[in-house]
Amino acid sequence: MTETIPPTERTRVVREAHRGAYDRETIYKILDEAYVCHVGFATDGQPFVIPTLFGRVGDAVYFHGSAASRMLRNVSEGISVCVTVTLTDGFVLARSVFNHSMNYRSVVALGKAVLVDAPEEKLEALRAFTEKIIPGRWNDARQPNEKELKATSILRLPLTEVSAKIRSGPVEDDAADYALPVWAGVIPMVTQWGEPIPAPGLAAEQRFQWPTGPGWDDTRAGA
Ligand SMILES: Cc1cc2nc3c(=O)[nH]c(=O)nc-3n(C[C@H](O)[C@H](O)[C@H](O)COP(=O)(O)OP(=O)(O)OC[C@H]3O[C@@H](n4cnc5c(N)ncnc54)[C@H](O)[C@@H]3O)c2cc1C
Repeated sequence: MTETIPPTERTRVVREAHRGAYDRETIYKILDEAYVCHVGFATDGQPFVIPTLFGRVGDAVYFHGSAASRMLRNVSEGISVCVTVTLTDGFVLARSVFNHSMNYRSVVALGKAVLVDAPEEKLEALRAFTEKIIPGRWNDARQPNEKELKATSILRLPLTEVSAKIRSGPVEDDAADYALPVWAGVIPMVTQWGEPIPAPGLAAEQRFQWPTGPGWDDTRAGA
């Protein structure tokens, strides 16, 4: 059975509490499907929320420090952050405006993010970012050299205080509204990849060597 992260006073979902989930399996599935997280932190009383790429390795998420360089000023003791990830699955159109909603899966993680010092851990985090974009890309592309690694700050947030919230399924209309002559239902929302656009200067023989990725058509790659 998957491990549950006991909710704290800060991570217990209050509104529509039945949509809350605290098991690592559910939480990690959402984190692994998402590409972008929003990192929230406060500096001098001003909250900032910065969107950035991230990756999960084991029981921690990693993100680029450069995306939130303001927060690095006081990083030695760890920085209190709120990392949020959102997957949008569809619009829920109700018969009444009040009951309109979205289907979604989201995660909120709280805690102290710390700077990663060890080059091996930095590499592991960068590998996680890269492999998330396209599995195999880490080995296909040139990997970071020592100078690039030094210039990159990576932050680690252990996943110890985390919640997920999921809304799925149909419209929840008031019974009195069922008779209204208004279309109601769910409009699914999907992420779709476009056709790869080769970079200028790509060697002629490489132009049709598409990378393969989620949902990409391998047949065009001559695979
Ligand atoms: C795409 C999207 C659209 C939404 N639209 C609306 C809307 O229009 N109106 C509305 O009221 N709500 C909306 N929500 C839900 C919203 O995120 C909050 O869950 C809700 O507003 C407040 O819940 P709460 O009282 O539990 O929050 P709070 O008391 O603010 O939160 C308590 C704790 O619950 C957890 N939590 C709360 N919300 C989430 C979440 N979404 N994911 C993971 N953990 C969470 C966190 O750990 C948080 O610290 C939307 C969510 C998503 C992802």
